[in-house]
Amino acid sequence: MHVIYGGTFDPVHHGHLRLAIELRDRLGVDEVALVPCHIPPHRGETGATSEQRLRLLELAIAGERGLTVDDRELRRAGASYTADTLRQLRAELGEHEPLVMVVGTDAFAGFDRWREWEAIPQLAHVVVVRRPGPQLNPQSAAATLLRERAAEEPQDLHAAPCGRFLVLDPPLLDISATGIRARIADGRSPRYLLPDPVWREICRLGLYGACPEGGF
Ligand code: ATP
Repeated sequence: MHVIYGGTFDPVHHGHLRLAIELRDRLGVDEVALVPCHIPPHRGETGATSEQRLRLLELAIAGERGLTVDDRELRRAGASYTADTLRQLRAELGEHEPLVMVVGTDAFAGFDRWREWEAIPQLAHVVVVRRPGPQLNPQSAAATLLRERAAEEPQDLHAAPCGRFLVLDPPLLDISATGIRARIADGRSPRYLLPDPVWREICRLGLYGACPEGGF
């Protein structure tokens, strides 16, 4: 079973990494692939470039058994749509291998506005991770899919290549990339919110307003 977990990772932090490990263990897979998404240039002004986000991710997972980085969305020109990524992966994995995409409830709330959202269950399973904040509107197409195609347990995902929706409620760390960027811009330390090698590289490159000479 192939599991992908996408995000902007601007920058990657321990909330992301903790969830990735939790997914690996709960879903019973050897690997979880982190998939950084492309950010349109006009949104990239205050954050890091795609190459820099990728570099930080690679530093974050170095030596961690079972976490990998898949940079396919950064290599594709222009905006990247989940359906395109899943279609590409499906072609590589063949029609029988279970494929799982992971999404937080925040992002899943707008599932029926994603491009080609109706094709997604024909390509992959969806694991929805419960996050604090507004919950799904029970009348929405997303909530209906969750009810009608619900998987009871992770094992159900191993039994079919695609089409099931599993809600997981793992403990989450209260960390956000927005909070980390704000701390750095304020000259405060984000240490212990993200891996040391990631923070060291942010300092070295002067990302998010970090002072390169400020020291680690
Ligand atoms: P930002 O603050 O810039 O919006 P973020 O920290 O929320 O960023 P993203 O890159 O947007 O991180 O998130 C990627 C994925 O990780 C999303 O599915 C999101 O729901 C999830 N995620 C973000 N923060 C956490 C966390 N602390 N614990 C678990 N999952 C998280």
